[in-house]
Amino acid sequence: MRFRLAPIAAAALLSLPLVAQAVPAQAQVKCHGTGTDAAVQSPIQIDRSKACPGSGPAIAIHYPASVSGTLLFQDKAPVGEISEHDDVRFVIGTGGTQPYITYGGERYNLNNVHFHGHAEHKFAGQATAPLEAHFVHTKATGTGYVVFGVMIDAKTFLGQTEHDKLLVSPPALGASKAITGIHLNDMLPANHATFRYTGSLTTPDEVGTYFQPVNWVVFDHHAKAHALNVFHYRSLWGAEGNFRELQENHPAANIYSYH
Ligand SMILES: [Zn+2]
Repeated sequence: MRFRLAPIAAAALLSLPLVAQAVPAQAQVKCHGTGTDAAVQSPIQIDRSKACPGSGPAIAIHYPASVSGTLLFQDKAPVGEISEHDDVRFVIGTGGTQPYITYGGERYNLNNVHFHGHAEHKFAGQATAPLEAHFVHTKATGTGYVVFGVMIDAKTFLGQTEHDKLLVSPPALGASKAITGIHLNDMLPANHATFRYTGSLTTPDEVGTYFQPVNWVVFDHHAKAHALNVFHYRSLWGAEGNFRELQENHPAANIYSYH
């Protein structure tokens, strides 16, 4: 089926209007193209002024209105004490309708959403966001990752966002609890403009390897969570946080904008 679908997708793309349209100001980026499309180490700084207009695989998001799962305070080695590789993650339950995306026609299931504080990716010229959420999608057949990165700002407001539901009361280190009624679509910024590049996971496996390649999709716009919950999450780690430092890659990654 995969091979039969491809020509249909191509035909659909070709059927798009070819009439020249006014290009939005934010899409008028200068493409330097001196970097690499091969996988680099993540996270990286994203310089919007050096991003190339993207023309890569189409992404379609298929998140059900509401999902349930397990909120886990993942305890990686050294077990029993907080380390930079630990995180609080919402592991999607396998009982209900599965959230997934298609990337270039291939299905990737959403496995978990977890948080890093402070953020791992950084936009050049902007302060590092206090939190970053990672939506980890794993290829349904074979091995492959598409990870969404969403910066989260700390704000004060009445009520709570979907991020707050996961941040407000994490279980103890190594423990988990059931969570229901999470609206994943509302965890993404309303504007789906993104920057993409090919990188790595930002936490190592058992032998210290940061898996490559990872298809990174970093949202241009930020989500928000209540400042009290952000402060509480950050306080679980103290000053060292649970983020990997920005990586210097030579050559640097080519970054593509999708606006
Ligand atoms: Zn992560």
